[in-house]
Amino acid sequence: MAKLSINDLDLRDKTVFIRVDFNVPLSADGKEITSDKRIRASLPTIQYAIEHGAAVILASHLGRPKGRRRPEMSLAPVAARLSELLGRHVAMAPDSVGAEVSAMRPKPGEVLLLENLRFHSEEEANDPEFSRQLASLADIYINDAFGSAHRAHASTVGMVSFLPRAAAGLLMDRELQWLTRVTKSPERPCIALLGGAKVSDKIEVIQNLLKVMDKILIGGAMAYTFLRAKDQPTGKSLVEEDKIELARQLLQTAVDKLVLPIDHIVVREIKPGAAHETVTNIGADEIGVDIGPRTIEQYATIIRDARTIIWNGPMGIFEMPPFDHGTVSLAKAVAESKAVSVVGGGDSEKAIKTAGVSDRITHVSTGGGASLEFLGGIELPGVRALSDKAEAAV
Ligand code: AMP
Repeated sequence: MAKLSINDLDLRDKTVFIRVDFNVPLSADGKEITSDKRIRASLPTIQYAIEHGAAVILASHLGRPKGRRRPEMSLAPVAARLSELLGRHVAMAPDSVGAEVSAMRPKPGEVLLLENLRFHSEEEANDPEFSRQLASLADIYINDAFGSAHRAHASTVGMVSFLPRAAAGLLMDRELQWLTRVTKSPERPCIALLGGAKVSDKIEVIQNLLKVMDKILIGGAMAYTFLRAKDQPTGKSLVEEDKIELARQLLQTAVDKLVLPIDHIVVREIKPGAAHETVTNIGADEIGVDIGPRTIEQYATIIRDARTIIWNGPMGIFEMPPFDHGTVSLAKAVAESKAVSVVGGGDSEKAIKTAGVSDRITHVSTGGGASLEFLGGIELPGVRALSDKAEAAV
């Protein structure tokens, strides 16, 4: 069911609590932000709220302080960066709850950033009292933190029941729209490209996507578990022994949909500059590190004809060139196709950046874990908590 969006609400003179994902990478001393991508991703929602007359309270977690106040995980550098990006002062609260914070309640047009939510263990415990205190700061709840929507925490789920309305921010809305479109009503042919190290992480995704997709192209180390299930040699490649049987069952139910590599780049030792060759059958001493040229060609042909593409996970050890060749080649093929393309997961995102094609992908998801759970057919708790559009009187 469609969820209420920030667009549906009258924000004038309301205090709006926006759960954002400002879990940015910081330098070791915690003083410098090394990438402000996540801050930029929520700018449209924050600007929208300001322009529509709201007083804005922003909240996020940063790192894993495990319920303790850790100065190097303070959100203070984020407040400074956000001030620059918004071109207006962003006040920094000393904490996320308490009398001092309540006294800092912003006026319409003002922005207050709460301190790291995870300085309180109650955040991850989804504690009702902590949830109530967070909710007491505001009139309306907005969730723009898609990357945290798969966690049932106080700021993503608990506090929602203490406020009359909970809506998706613009970033969350966009994530839900694209992910829903490619999984629920994809234009055909629709394909998924799945890679990465572990089959176990993507079992639900494979099972769920098999119901909808026309084909699933498998790459990365995951492919070797499937090849073993077909009794093909995998040498010393990474195989999840305890998942071979499951892979066999998946192949039995969907042999015409699951596409596996037909050649491989192999090495005898995984290290930068290792001697490598292309093989069809992996030798006993060899380790598969990338898909081979014939596989690239075959997968690229399927990608070219597709109208919908979902991609998650690299095709090889892409951090170690030249074993990024398969991943980068397919990133280019996805960019060149006319399909609606939705990419999730940090590694795939890096790969499309390396290939220089980020702007030719329809939607790059900001949430690795969350997008995987969504693709696995799991309703994200942070999304379930939002008000349904049809039921919420505005
Ligand atoms: P995941 O977190 O499951 O998406 O896996 C991502 C990781 O899979 C990346 O760090 C890749 O280096 C790794 N990977 C991909 N292909 C292989 C391979 N053939 N052998 C070992 N690791 C791989």
